[in-house]
Order: sequence, then structure tokens, then C-alpha cells
Amino acid sequence: MAETIQEAVKRRRTFAIIAHPDAGKTTLTEKLLLFGGAIQLAGEVKAKKDKIQTRSDWMKIERERGISVVTSVMTFEYGDNVFNLLDTPGHEDFADDTYRTLSAVDAAVMVIDAARGIEPRTLKLFEVCRLRDIPIITFVNKMDREARDTFEILDEIEEKLALDTAPVTWPIGQGKTFAGTYHLAENAVRRGDAETERTPVHGPDSNRAAGLLPENDRPAFIEEVELAREACRPFDADAFREGHLTPVYFGSALRNFGVRDLIEALGAYGPPPRAQEADSRTVEATEDRMTSFVFKIQANMDPNHRDRIAFVRVCSGILQRGMKAKLVRTGKPMSLSAPQFFFARSRITADEAYAGDVVGIPNHGTLRIGDTLTEGEDILFRGVPNFAPEILRRVRLGDAMKAKKLKDALHQMAEEGVVQLFTPEDGSPAIVGVVGALQLDVLKERLNIEYGLPVDFEVSRFSICRWIDADEQAELTRFMEAHRGDIARDLDDDPVFLAQHEFSLNYEAERWKAIRFTTVKDYQ
Ligand code: GDP
Repeated sequence: MAETIQEAVKRRRTFAIIAHPDAGKTTLTEKLLLFGGAIQLAGEVKAKKDKIQTRSDWMKIERERGISVVTSVMTFEYGDNVFNLLDTPGHEDFADDTYRTLSAVDAAVMVIDAARGIEPRTLKLFEVCRLRDIPIITFVNKMDREARDTFEILDEIEEKLALDTAPVTWPIGQGKTFAGTYHLAENAVRRGDAETERTPVHGPDSNRAAGLLPENDRPAFIEEVELAREACRPFDADAFREGHLTPVYFGSALRNFGVRDLIEALGAYGPPPRAQEADSRTVEATEDRMTSFVFKIQANMDPNHRDRIAFVRVCSGILQRGMKAKLVRTGKPMSLSAPQFFFARSRITADEAYAGDVVGIPNHGTLRIGDTLTEGEDILFRGVPNFAPEILRRVRLGDAMKAKKLKDALHQMAEEGVVQLFTPEDGSPAIVGVVGALQLDVLKERLNIEYGLPVDFEVSRFSICRWIDADEQAELTRFMEAHRGDIARDLDDDPVFLAQHEFSLNYEAERWKAIRFTTVKDYQ
């Protein structure tokens, strides 16, 4: 019998992993896919990374700097659940890409290195999740190495993140003695991910719990479990879903501990696809009619085809292969002839996708980040953010004959979210803006390789960019007219104010109280 929309939605879990570089995100991803049956052998994710690097020239940057620039999505099944794991770039120069990806998930797994605790990137990414009320499951990784005291780790999470913690499992030993995980509420033990089931025991002093440890370590373990049960908060599903409490799991992605505990937790408590705010109403995931939005565009996934894939998160209904969707920004119909699902090493044509699913839609520049697709309804999803760039540059091109080509290329790069593009009102050359310097390297490399445009960057006289608006349109117009040389338009034609330095921005903000200067813009 065919699955109903309600059933399909209930099974889905769409999430991202947030972590400071080196905490073990890649290793954990690999193991999730392995246990989810999406790959046969661990090592695939790394292998895939390497392959992409050698295949694609502009990815040289990634190879040289040893970082992952690409965001991708991976689908796998475990038990009754369908998981969509959205990968985020580890390097902070691509932070805006990460933030956009987080707009498309319903939950996040926060990976912490057991010896290092909460690190700066973890904190930053956590704050983004909190702004969006994204529920977080914590995975304390690398328990097979010398780790901090378990209570200390929990305290640090509570203090640094102002987030309640509820340890669901407790590590049996740590470092060399790490032997498994103890489920506090169930009184059950898993000696590693090779065991598909947890074994019930009568208590922490059982042979199958404390008995796994060297004799000297047993009393401390038994005491810790008892203390944890008395002193720590119990898991509360509502507080978790509201983003106030994080369940904590312990393990070692490398040595195959705790990963199954984590997937099962996502399946059991992870929220199914949430209702999504659009401009005029809230869209429920189980509605019949398809709605979706684009949160990511990726070019050159397959250089043989020079393709451009728009990653679309389905918000309601069924996205069916061959259907005609309406691109709300332009009002034009668009045929979804070849939507794709992505797995660890392959992609397949997606016949049907439900809320929470992420499909790739090949296109030649029709779709942009933030676009909404529907079955006809005129609604726009908000919430795929745009961040004010921290670095502004003019692009210098040796060959003036290619100015038009450069303009088109920059436009495309901006639509893909590689850079932001600002067109000054006074007719001077366009300005590109990025959040991290590495984005400029990617732009330069891609303009050269894909468009044959060798460019350099020139410092612009501006260093700050803010979107501007006001309650009274007349006031905004007055401000813009008074500052014509400092006003530009972004890709959506929204005005920005360009300032030379913080001082001049503050000065203007002081003088023009009716104008709002903002650093984040939700795509319309
Ligand atoms: P990412 O930068 O967060 O993607 O981290 P990786 O998954 O690439 O891991 C960083 C390093 O930590 C690699 O050398 C991994 O082999 C190692 N690593 C990851 N998980 C564990 C673990 O559970 N235990 C130990 N001992 N090492 C780990």
C-alpha cells in the first residue's frame, strides 16, 4: 500500500552536524552512513572528498588548505526512519553557507571533543541554532582517548551554552578502558556499535557494565552512574524540542561506540519536518500541495556536465518527478524533470520527495538561493539569511573587452551564493562582498577556470555594508538621495548603505534615526 503523506513525513529526520574542526564530524558522518547502510565500507566519505578534489580544478583551494568547501546532502535509512544529513563546510570563511544550510534542518547534532569541550566554532554554530530554536543532540566524541571528567563536560555545556543537559547514556570507562555505553533510564548496555541491540542489565554493578572495566575502576563507575541519576536532569522531550535541553550521548566515532545510540535518539526524539513560516501563512509539513525552497546552489558537482544543482528543501506535499512547479519570484512555471537524491557516493533520480527531504534540481541559472517553488500558490518562504559582508572589493579585469562577460559571471556567482554583488547607484563598477577571505579565492579561481576571466581584487573605499530600510518610504528615499555616492543595490534590488568605516556608519545612524541599518537580511 502506498505511504500517505502523514506517514512519510513522520518518518523523516532532517539534520546537520555542527562541530569545531577536528572534533570528528567527518568520521561521525561516515559512521552514520555506514550504519545507515548508505555505504558499505567506512572510508567512503573521505574517498569521496579526495575524488572531488582531483576531479575539479577550482577545488585546488580546498586541497591546498586541507578544508572542505563543499556542502552536500546525504540520505540514508535506519530502522523506520529516513534521514537527510546536510553537511556544512568546516571552515569559518564559509560561515554564510553553513547558516543557510541550518535554515533547512529540523535538528542538529553537536559534536564535542571529549578532551577539548566547547570550542569557538561550536559556540558560534550553536548560537545560530538557538536563534532558530533548532533542537540539539550532543555527541561527546573521542571517549577512547583521555577525556575530561564526564560531569565536568556536562557542566561546561550548561555554562558556556546556557543550555540544560540530560545525559541519556553514560560512558563505561574512558581512554584505554572505554568499553561501551550505559543507558541510564533503561539500565542497558551496548559494548559498541557492532551490537545492534542494547542488553538490559540489573544495574551499573552488573558484570556486563562495571564488569567490563578493570577492577579498580569499577566502584567509581558505579558511583558516577548513581550520582548521574540523582543529580542530572532526566531527558524531557518537550524541553528538547523547544531547544532548552540537550540530551547527551557519549562515544567514539572512530572506534564505533555510541553512534547507534545517537541514530536511535534522532529517530526516537528527533523532530519530524516542522511547519515552515512563509510570508502570508504557516505551511504544515503534511499539507497536500508541494511547497519548497532553495537554500543552496552548487556548481560543478560533475565537471563533465558543468551542471548547476539547486538544493531544495521540501516543506509540504510531494515533489514529483516531471511535475510543473511555480517559481514564485518570477511567477513562471518550471518543469522538475530530473530531481535527484544524493547518497554517500551516488545520486539517483527522485520520483517522489516529501517534507524534510532535500533534492537537487539541475538547472541552468533559473533558480537562486532563497527561491520558493509551489504548485501555484503565491507564498514566499523566509529565513534563508544573507549576512552583511565583512570584506568589500572591486574586481579588476585586465581585458576591458570582457566587461560584459564579467558582469554576467559575477551575477551568476552571486546567485549561487559564492559572493554577494552590489551595484552602486552612481554607476561606478560593481562591488563584491564576502564574509570570509577564502570566498574571494574561490571566486578568483572559478572566474578564471570556468569563464576564462583572470581577475584581481582592488580594495574598495568602503569597508562596511548595511541593508537599509525605514517605516516611511519617503524617509528612505530622502536618505538615499542625500547619500547617492554611498548607496548600492543587492541582487534583489534591495538598497544597501556603504560606509568607509564604523565611525561614519555610527555617525549616519545617529543623524538618521528613522533608518534601520541591518547586518542580516532574510531572503525575500
Ligand atoms: P572533522 O574536522 O570534525 O571532520 O574531524 P574528522 O572526522 O576529520 O576527525 C579529526 C581527527 O580526529 C581525525 O584524525 C580522526 O581520525 C580523529 N577522530 C575522529 N573521531 C575520533 C574518535 O572517536 N577517537 C579518536 N581517537 N580519534 C578520532
